[in-house]
Amino acid sequence: MLTHEIGSVTLVGAGPGHPDLITVRAVRALAQCQAVVYDRLVGREILDLAHPKAKRVYVGKSCGRHAATQDEINALLVALARQGLDVVRLKGGDPFVFGRGGEEMLHLRAAGIACTVVPGVTAAFGCAAEFDFPLTHRGMASGVRFVTGHMKNDEDLSLDWRGLVDPHTTLVVYMGVSGLAAMLDGLTEAGLSKETPAAIIQNGTRAGQRMVCATAATLNKAARNLNHGMPALVVFGEVVTLSPLWDAQMAELTLPPLCAAQ
Ligand code: SAH
Repeated sequence: MLTHEIGSVTLVGAGPGHPDLITVRAVRALAQCQAVVYDRLVGREILDLAHPKAKRVYVGKSCGRHAATQDEINALLVALARQGLDVVRLKGGDPFVFGRGGEEMLHLRAAGIACTVVPGVTAAFGCAAEFDFPLTHRGMASGVRFVTGHMKNDEDLSLDWRGLVDPHTTLVVYMGVSGLAAMLDGLTEAGLSKETPAAIIQNGTRAGQRMVCATAATLNKAARNLNHGMPALVVFGEVVTLSPLWDAQMAELTLPPLCAAQ
């Protein structure tokens, strides 16, 4: 009699959006999998890299339907692996950067299911490359910090603002747009200069990508023109001024209303 073998789960980073920004290892895992569990930030072109016969399970939000809870996703991954399937759990960016990949890995480990991880290009790397500014730069930023601006169950943002204020470290905030006003208050009260260069990058590496440049003082106003609901990163730090868009947008702001021809 054939024994029913237990399958495995591979947590795969899909990158920031553009289908070229996925690793060769991720492409291989997708091509070989028997089931793929994916969420909202994963585009169709990347999903289409999955084996044509792979079972596809969407666990993100969709019209009129709530996203699956983390407990439901954990249980689903275990159930699929116990059916003997090799499962790819496909996540935007990198699975271990604000992707709850750690929780899924621990849950699978506790259930005795083999789990491996394929890293992905996190949104910060994709956005910085796309808009041509480095995240660290000699003499400007000796480090970079990634934080999340979103708290569990909409709790108040209670980040260590003082610890985040450092003119020599680039600060990248994931999920920071909805709590932007509170974050700017927290940071400036903790000593962040209002002149600190800042930017919001929306849909980086995807169609319709945008970067809005401002300062800590003007960022909230600049954010009003953005299309809310799209993934966006907030970046603080002088490195933002190295993007060609910084000069272009600052020049526009200082342009006199009517330029007389010379
Ligand atoms: N694991 C992902 C992050 C998941 S949290 C990663 O490594 O990138 C989701 C947040 O990531 C979004 O709210 C947004 O802040 C950011 N994000 C993801 N894709 C993005 C993109 N293409 N452009 C800008 N921000 C993005």
